Amino acid sequence: MKALAKMKPAPGLELIETDIPQPGPNDLLVKVQAAAICGTDAHIYAWDAWSQSRIKPPLIVGHELGGEVVAVGKMVGGFKKGDFISAESHIPCGYCYQCRNDQQHICGNLKILGVDTPGCFAEYAVIPVVCAWKNDKSMSPEIAAVQEPLGNAVYTTLCEDVSGLNVVVFGCGPAGLFATGVANAAGAGQIIHVVKHEFRSAISKKMGSTKLIKYDDPKLVDKIKEATNGVGADVILEMTGNPGAINQGIEVLRKGGRFTAFGLTADTEIKINLNALVFKGCRIICINGRQMFRTWYQMAGLLNSGRLNPAPVITHKFKLEEFQKAFETMKAKDRKSAKILLIP
Ligand SMILES: [Zn+2]
Ligand SMILES: [Zn+2]
Repeated sequence: MKALAKMKPAPGLELIETDIPQPGPNDLLVKVQAAAICGTDAHIYAWDAWSQSRIKPPLIVGHELGGEVVAVGKMVGGFKKGDFISAESHIPCGYCYQCRNDQQHICGNLKILGVDTPGCFAEYAVIPVVCAWKNDKSMSPEIAAVQEPLGNAVYTTLCEDVSGLNVVVFGCGPAGLFATGVANAAGAGQIIHVVKHEFRSAISKKMGSTKLIKYDDPKLVDKIKEATNGVGADVILEMTGNPGAINQGIEVLRKGGRFTAFGLTADTEIKINLNALVFKGCRIICINGRQMFRTWYQMAGLLNSGRLNPAPVITHKFKLEEFQKAFETMKAKDRKSAKILLIP
């Protein structure tokens, strides 16, 4: 089969020809119909400090997919040949403290598909059955492939109620665009989206934002205060990891509001105004992954209702062989793309 792999400890990926993997007793073998490129894959492609410390070549990368089950392991129940699935990328051990306390998504021995185990940028992928999610057959492979990152947005946005509340989303990458759509589907009041790139502003409107503010607008804080009658935002969804955005989020959060941290900072140590958070008596909720499988059920409900449509965020599709073009499009300075798919 064809696959996209990190073959040596250096930047880039290679298109390789390799054997179709065999599923273990608790695995599914899946024919990948669509895969999506994540920020994580871009880090691995660039071979940054994080990937150098985590990735052990040779490794097939990719963790966001939709595909058809073509073989099931001996011990597998609940799935059969012909099922149409997506995958939760967090592979739990099943026996640690978190796994045994309803927190498999932050398992103490967590492995990630396409990071610690062979991934899905390939014609076939092995998916542990504990990570498999059965889709309705009416769903397109494209939508199926983006459910993993969409799930991040569902968990971030809906870890507490947003209905009727004023929500500010920081970041116009796929995570921020998806979060805007989820807030809209869940009946948020105003959805103020702080954006950087023109191309993505148009997608934000389609996802349901009610007000757009440029990230470098000197009146950003005033505009959000004004839009919320001087009270500030009920909910901050921080999807950038940018220290400037994080501190603006803290500033515009109302007293007693919710600050939700999803974006990862480039430097692990940054300066934040902790006193402001303490005096505001706010709640800080940190999001890693998706709750297994509560988030997935919630996401299915929103998708089935027709109120959540992630399609506008999917801007490009490339064949697996065109992966270089795909990564270049993703990294282009003007960011005239959002979610990019690879089709094996
Ligand atoms: Zn991802
Ligand atoms: Zn565990």
